[in-house]
Amino acid sequence: MKIELAAAQPTPKEIEVSFPPESIDIAPDAEIIENVDFRGSMWRDSHGPHISGHFSTKVKVECSRCLIPVERSIVGEFDDLFEEEEKTVEQEFEVKAEMLDTSFADGSVDLAELLREQIVLDLPEQVFCREDCRGLCPKCGQDRNLIDCNCSADIDPRWAAFQDLN
Ligand SMILES: [Zn+2]
Ligand SMILES: [Zn+2]
Repeated sequence: MKIELAAAQPTPKEIEVSFPPESIDIAPDAEIIENVDFRGSMWRDSHGPHISGHFSTKVKVECSRCLIPVERSIVGEFDDLFEEEEKTVEQEFEVKAEMLDTSFADGSVDLAELLREQIVLDLPEQVFCREDCRGLCPKCGQDRNLIDCNCSADIDPRWAAFQDLN
């Protein structure tokens, strides 16, 4: 869904849209399993056109310890500015970052791409299927939630904790 930034006015124009899961691909980080609902608006101030609003969806990610699929709700909000008229040195850096933004080209914004970037930013760094997930055995690779392999006895617990970070 393309949004023409030139159409942005000081009076916000409401945008409400729902993208089906298959239209936004966040692989290999995760998989979207519910519609991505966005409610927001496009508007303009002295700095330029903005698109702001909030979104919600549900994703499937792997447990950071045992790799089984885990579902997580993702909600977030953003306010993106797409142009700067007067630039300080600091702002210039931000503008360059935005120019590299793949959602922004030829004066229009691809809303699905913008949401894809926001969802990836909002993904949790670590997800556990449960608080006390025991993870995979670093020696034999078996799921220690399911099987009590005998390798764990000879692993230094400090070393095991280090392995969990990988
Ligand atoms: Zn787990
Ligand atoms: Zn083992």
